[in-house]
Amino acid sequence: MSKLESLQFDNGFARLPESYYSRVCPTPVPAPYLVCHSPEALRLLDLDESEITRPEMIATLAGNQLLPGMDAIAALYAGHQFGHFVPQLGDGRAILLGEVKNAAGEGWEVQLKGAGRTPYSRGGDGRAVLRSSIREFLCSEAMHALGIPTTRALAIVGSDHPVYREDEETAALVTRLAPSFVRFGSFEVFYYRNQIEPIRELADYVIARYYPELAKRDEPYAELLREVGRRTAELMAQWQAVGFSHGVMNTDNMSVLGLTLDYGPFGFLDAFDPGYICNHSDSGGRYAFDQQPDVAAWNLTKLAQTFVPLLSVETASAAIAGYPQQFGQAYIERMAAKFGLQLDGETVPLVMDALQLLAQNHVDYTIFLRRLCDFDSAEGAVNATLRDLFLDRSAFDAWAFRYAGALRAIGSVDTKRSMAMRAVNPKYILRNHLAEVAIRRAADHRDYSEITRLHTLLLHPFDEQPEFEAYAAEPPDWARQIEVSCSS
Ligand code: AMP
Ligand code: MG
Repeated sequence: MSKLESLQFDNGFARLPESYYSRVCPTPVPAPYLVCHSPEALRLLDLDESEITRPEMIATLAGNQLLPGMDAIAALYAGHQFGHFVPQLGDGRAILLGEVKNAAGEGWEVQLKGAGRTPYSRGGDGRAVLRSSIREFLCSEAMHALGIPTTRALAIVGSDHPVYREDEETAALVTRLAPSFVRFGSFEVFYYRNQIEPIRELADYVIARYYPELAKRDEPYAELLREVGRRTAELMAQWQAVGFSHGVMNTDNMSVLGLTLDYGPFGFLDAFDPGYICNHSDSGGRYAFDQQPDVAAWNLTKLAQTFVPLLSVETASAAIAGYPQQFGQAYIERMAAKFGLQLDGETVPLVMDALQLLAQNHVDYTIFLRRLCDFDSAEGAVNATLRDLFLDRSAFDAWAFRYAGALRAIGSVDTKRSMAMRAVNPKYILRNHLAEVAIRRAADHRDYSEITRLHTLLLHPFDEQPEFEAYAAEPPDWARQIEVSCSS
């Protein structure tokens, strides 16, 4: 483990031509202080944990100083936002400091979100508020612990520098880590400018660095599309299976590495509601929970379109044609595992009927699945703790009868199944109200202990943590008033 000064930078993205970004330094913030950090993320950079409290580290994560070897840039991209093409977006408040090579040979790009204005800020102030930074920090690390591909969060640094949203708030910066932040929109910007060479060069860069095995194939660009489609299908299956709603699935928030990217007004399902809209600004429900797999498919067509000049319409569309099947397969495999079932003819109707019952009875998705881990498949068993979740008890009984029969038919042993199901049905997720408590304490009292408590708890989402039982409960009544929007 090493010190901040010994970080080795190798800035691959910054070596691309300047058409992909603008060189821009972070704008310093006054008197930065450490809000929270992720020890696991520090280890990705081989950094000793004690480094995090050093003034030099805090100054670096605040954007108040650059280290030798850093090459600060804001990336250019475009994107389809709520279905409408915006020809130029780009990192309006995120600044890539550089790419760290760790001892294991991995490259981690280090990006500050909320680092001040860039040439792509348009009317924005280039800042992020503490509230949204806490949500991004907690969710990135929680998603990783759930086994869901995501960008990571190293730390939050705050400053009393005022930031104006609906009300006055204070500034914060999240340090994000990812192998790459290249988005679908990074390709779209050149397609709509009719610039084919930059598309090719970016595709070559992505293949060489992140999909090297594709370089030797006959049609590397088609293979790249196919692989992005496959990873996106896998990601959507994971989101749907865990009950995660992203909220702003614009093409500029879609990672070409299949990572969950740009946490804004996201939300986890409490009561199962397929039409759940976590983003208060999404009045049409374009990004409602059950729309996500289809939106991802639509977004993939936008990416594929940018590859048409390199391929052909037929090849580009063929490359992503497998997505619906890949998503369907990945989703039902995950759901079968969550229900302790095998992939046979009974599974799909059992799962779908359960989801319908959950929706009709407003049953908490996570709690239901966790209690299902203890299901007693013996003939005539009542399964009272599960049954109590349903208003319509007889509908539950009828479903449980079928489920028990299916389990017995495959010779499922309750104790063994329970163990396996507990490893795929989290007990703890980042419910909105949990984040809200941490945010209120931080914003109102400068008390960051709840962020750390939540972060630590969510590192082990599948474990029983008896001292944190209350964090696994349904949301309290006041949680209904929480509104999360794009304003961050
Ligand atoms: P997001 O909704 O966070 O994914 O942001 C969409 C676009 O708006 C991106 O190009 C961001 O960089 C930009 N943006 C969001 N908030 C700000 C801000 N406060 N200042 C400048 N640009 C911003
Ligand atoms: Mg974004």
